[in-house]
Amino acid sequence: MKGICILGATGSIGVSTLDVVARHPNLYNVIALTANKNIDVLYEQCLTHSPQVVVIVNEQKAAEFKTKIQNSPLENLRVLVGAESVCDVATLPNVDSVMAAIVGAAGLLPTLAAAKAGKTVLLANKEALVMSGDIFMNAVEKSGAQLLPIDSEHNAIFQCMPATYQTGVTAKGVRRILLTASGGPFRTMPLNELSNVTPAQAVAHPNWDMGKKISVDSATMMNKGLEMIEACLLFDMKPEQIQVVIHPQSVIHSMVDYVDGTVLAQMGCPDMRIPIAHALAYPERFESGATPLDIFAVKHMDFEPADLQRFPCLRLAYEAIQTGGTMPTILNAANEIAVEAFLNEQIRFSDIPLVIEKTMQTIPMQKAGSLEIILTTDKNARFVAEQLIQNLANT
Ligand code: NAD
Ligand code: MG
Repeated sequence: MKGICILGATGSIGVSTLDVVARHPNLYNVIALTANKNIDVLYEQCLTHSPQVVVIVNEQKAAEFKTKIQNSPLENLRVLVGAESVCDVATLPNVDSVMAAIVGAAGLLPTLAAAKAGKTVLLANKEALVMSGDIFMNAVEKSGAQLLPIDSEHNAIFQCMPATYQTGVTAKGVRRILLTASGGPFRTMPLNELSNVTPAQAVAHPNWDMGKKISVDSATMMNKGLEMIEACLLFDMKPEQIQVVIHPQSVIHSMVDYVDGTVLAQMGCPDMRIPIAHALAYPERFESGATPLDIFAVKHMDFEPADLQRFPCLRLAYEAIQTGGTMPTILNAANEIAVEAFLNEQIRFSDIPLVIEKTMQTIPMQKAGSLEIILTTDKNARFVAEQLIQNLANT
């Protein structure tokens, strides 16, 4: 039996992970679950999966949870509070695998702690990797941790790599990666209507059911930008070797193009339980609960290049990785702030790339030489983006 810790258990990826784990009760033992605020979902998860310990980051919610479990079947459950405790449970000795499914920069320190502790890291939290880049990949290399991608595209690419492939190195014979994207809900909307779209429209993704932040990222295509950077890091490739391909049907989840002319693709229904089950069972296979792909129902598949005018966030992500150093950290932080402001109806959808671009122009790039530099840059970029948003609100 392997011990698993799920960081961000109450989110979309966390829930799907527990669904897959519950199908294999003889293989995985749930050691720890973490959540930020959603104690009702966490409570139900504890009843079903009996973790040894939980962490609730938000202090008030943690206090409510402790009251809630009194005189309940969970009264002996160990409950820890605060962000530091998330790092603690990610490195417990009886934890073998850590599902990194916190959204945003908040996931960096616990995911990095798991990597440093040599755990098998199942990486969904792309922001953590994008913001810390080589620092994260070097920590993985140094500890010998196994890093398995959960993002459907990167999991697909990993599956199309040679059999003994390990993340972090350039695979032999690979010419380029074809990173597929659905194009999100606004792929065909007239450009002049984009500034008026609402948060509700932006989070309604045509093919995938996900958390709010990544749904907005998919609508701006910043998600693909972050994924392009993620692919450069995970597979040690140059940005110009990552070709974004709009494929609205989301049947192919990405492809690897080899020097001999072979293109390998991974296909399946758009269900995150597939990459989650792949990583949990790796190097074997087990049931995920996903509906098998009905190839006859896939009438046709379309492929087209991404329109950088429609999706300036994708252009900004290419600029950030090409500039290098702390620029991806700045891009990520400004994006997190801008998306939150859009969801709170403080700025328009079309303001998101403006805030990010101006933040990138305001903060000079530095060499990303240490974790301290990363964390300071993240903080500064958030501050600058917040100021820009206030200025937008006052005009
Ligand atoms: P979500 O919003 O549904 O869930 C986020 C989880 O993180 C929740 O459990 C929440 O409690 C926790 N969390 C939020 N803020 C926190 C904080 N400050 N400190 C500690 N925990 C906090 O998000 P999601 O859609 O499950 O996405 C999670 C990650 O996986 C993101 O990085 C996303 O880009 C990535 N991802 C998601 C999908 C998907 O289908 N949902 C696909 C690919 C990659
Ligand atoms: Mg993805």
